[in-house]
Amino acid sequence: MKKICKNCGASNQPAAKYCNNCNESLIGSMLKSEDESLQSVRPANNYASLGNDTVSIGKWLLVMFLLTIPLVNIGTLFYLAFVSQNQNLENFGKAALILTVIYFVLTIVFVIIASIFFVEILKSLSY
Ligand SMILES: [Zn+2]
Repeated sequence: MKKICKNCGASNQPAAKYCNNCNESLIGSMLKSEDESLQSVRPANNYASLGNDTVSIGKWLLVMFLLTIPLVNIGTLFYLAFVSQNQNLENFGKAALILTVIYFVLTIVFVIIASIFFVEILKSLSY
């Protein structure tokens, strides 16, 4: 038996109080056994549980704004990559995190090389 959300049609655990897809309250939702028609839809439903919905301009504005704030931007990327429940935002978050790691490593390498040069210059000046 599954609880069917009357708002979006997603199937939820019988004990669930809120829809795991749209957060609609499930109080008063009907319990429905998984008949053939439902089971044939389920794989697609499960696959689509990561939403492929178009991300609105307002949401992109929010994301871009958050990404301009130091530290908050890292948190935002983690949220997008692992919590957002939207395939597009998830891919964007992961790609941006990968770039962040690459930039971070390159920056450390650059700082190390630069400080070695700096120390060498200081040494040569002291003679
Ligand atoms: Zn729902």
